[in-house]
Amino acid sequence: MGEFDLIETFFKRPARNATLGVGDDCALLPVRAGQQLAISSDMLVEGRHFLSTVNPRFLGHKALAVNLSDLAACGAEPKAFMLALALPEVNASWLSEFSKGIWDLADAHHCDLIGGDTTRGPLNICITVLGEVPAHLALLRSGAKVGDDVYVSGHLGDARLALEVFRGRLTIPQNVFEQARLRMEMPTPRLALGQALRGIATAAADISDGLLGDLQHILKASHVGADIDTAMVVSTLASGFMCNLPLATQRMLTLSGGDDYELVFTAPEHARADIAGLSVSTHTPITRIGKVNGSQQLRLLDSEGDEMRNEFESFDHFKSD
Ligand code: ADP
Ligand code: MG
Repeated sequence: MGEFDLIETFFKRPARNATLGVGDDCALLPVRAGQQLAISSDMLVEGRHFLSTVNPRFLGHKALAVNLSDLAACGAEPKAFMLALALPEVNASWLSEFSKGIWDLADAHHCDLIGGDTTRGPLNICITVLGEVPAHLALLRSGAKVGDDVYVSGHLGDARLALEVFRGRLTIPQNVFEQARLRMEMPTPRLALGQALRGIATAAADISDGLLGDLQHILKASHVGADIDTAMVVSTLASGFMCNLPLATQRMLTLSGGDDYELVFTAPEHARADIAGLSVSTHTPITRIGKVNGSQQLRLLDSEGDEMRNEFESFDHFKSD
């Protein structure tokens, strides 16, 4: 099978949001009046972001999910995406499963594949997503204000738990591992929550590299600091089997475990009732974990309210091994 048959077979379907999809030199995407395009790219590299043994359907899902998560973090609604793919060989059954993983998630969010590029090379998947957000309502990292509350969606640490098992650093029961592995391999982008937070949250980011690391991005961009209640983080955000692990491990998993694709965001105190309401309407658990302060420091408080040393490194491709 050649390059064009491959595209035709696995990656070409009629576009719904786009005026013109796969097949021409460019795709064409209309933007509704009063909306802005929100655009983001994320690349997944074999050996770096996933193992060669990963189920290709999960890989397709994850490649799109991590991109949609960026749209969620800025409150945008997905419209379309581009897929740039380097493949070592044409393996039809692999491509069929991979594309199913992509289509299922794309369909769930009414998002068109409108183009891309395909080349031979070490397995590498780069997706660019395009979404719409009403002008001036995009959630940015830079809007957190002193006195705002800090919140996190969902639960944290499962993906890192699975990674620690893969690395041979932790042993857990098989059924617990399977669940954690699913969270790592098939993350759920928090799109409904992101859109519901427009006009309510003052800043937001998705958690790809770990809660503290991604919160730091908000704090830096907003020129503020925060006090984080680590006891609240551990007791509420660690779930299931994780609660049996030593406290230090639970802290590491929840505070610095990456790949969760939950949202961390800030909002003024007067928005507490709204946030409780949208937690219900979007079926998303939301936990208040701290407060923005004017110190420009991220302070971690233990259950006594005493400051702890921040020994939690977030993931950095050029620092970590
Ligand atoms: P060009 O050479 O003009 O860049 P290509 O020959 O690379 O175009 O691609 C032909 C068409 O197929 C284009 O519309 C391109 O966007 C689309 N395409 C290429 N690879 C993919 C892919 N992996 N998924 C979706 N569309 C793709
Ligand atoms: Mg090309």
